Amino acid sequence: MGLTLLVVVGVTSTAKNFPAAYSFAKSEAGIVFDFIFDSLKHWVFGNDIAEPRVILGDQAPGLIASIPRSMPNSKLQYCNWHMAQNLKKRLAEKRYTKEERKAIMDKCWLYIQSETEADLVENREVLMNAMNIGEQDFMRKHWLPKEEAFVTLYTSKDPNLSCNSNQRAESTHPVTITLLNHQLSLAEATRRLVKGIKLLLEDLAELESESYGPSLAILDLRPFKSVIDQVTKYALQKVAGDWEICKQAVSAGTANLLALEECRCELPLRYSLPCKHHLLYACEAGLPIPRSLFHPRWWLNGPPISKTFLPWKPYYGVPRESHVPQQSNDISSLGHQIMEVREGFTGLAKARFEEQLVKTNRALLGFAE
Ligand SMILES: [Zn+2]
Repeated sequence: MGLTLLVVVGVTSTAKNFPAAYSFAKSEAGIVFDFIFDSLKHWVFGNDIAEPRVILGDQAPGLIASIPRSMPNSKLQYCNWHMAQNLKKRLAEKRYTKEERKAIMDKCWLYIQSETEADLVENREVLMNAMNIGEQDFMRKHWLPKEEAFVTLYTSKDPNLSCNSNQRAESTHPVTITLLNHQLSLAEATRRLVKGIKLLLEDLAELESESYGPSLAILDLRPFKSVIDQVTKYALQKVAGDWEICKQAVSAGTANLLALEECRCELPLRYSLPCKHHLLYACEAGLPIPRSLFHPRWWLNGPPISKTFLPWKPYYGVPRESHVPQQSNDISSLGHQIMEVREGFTGLAKARFEEQLVKTNRALLGFAE
């Protein structure tokens, strides 16, 4: 057909991609992106659904032109992989040797991944000094003014679910490539895509349903029992580590120090999830962790994410259950370790580990009877 397929994906509460929009386009001009965003506004966001706070894209000029007019409230973040490719290509064109290119690209990645202002100043200087004047000018013109959109120091504070590259969208390529080819008519290509999308959505629903039911987290995370079946397992696992920190602080008598810290945690900033600074109160008071600490995007069967949720902060509502004293630290830490080990496995090894886990727990239950 000679058309480009533009793909917009979002991230589910189980940290998987979901297809948000596909658009066959004749070019990647600004109006093409305007059309996609206008369609999303018309069909998805309407008047009350929250628009994305971060849009992660490559440096397509059409996208860059469209965002300020179509999605003025969303921050455009640049895919760091595409940023690096942009410099790599230029170095090849300017005839740097292979060794020089390798050394410069290593410095480029250090620069992109700078976490503090001091690191950024230093890494930027080291990178600039490794290149000729022409590339230094190029960087000053095209990269330095955009640092907030791709350097880790800044992107690690944005609500982007820790996404730094748009490999998410690109990982859908293999699917679309098997479904589509150049000989198809637009109607047939669309029919095939719709079929593929339906299957994908079924898989995603299946995945979300795995967050229900007896959770392995029950084993160790007793304080989490009020949010199990309420919030996805993925979200619970994300905060489990910070809960451990709280417990350790409480048992070491350093909870007051933790309470005094300024919160700059990635969990609330990037995920809208509670961090140790939010969890500490529940931990000290021996309260079950309330669902209201989790942004509704993480709730199972949650509400549409309306604009009223913005800006959002974790909060303690009325506790839904009475006082639950904190259980033995040993038992819950052990449970946490087990969960971590389990996450380290994949495929068959994971299945075997889980099988063993179920057996052991059944034996324990048998012992209780
Ligand atoms: Zn924090």
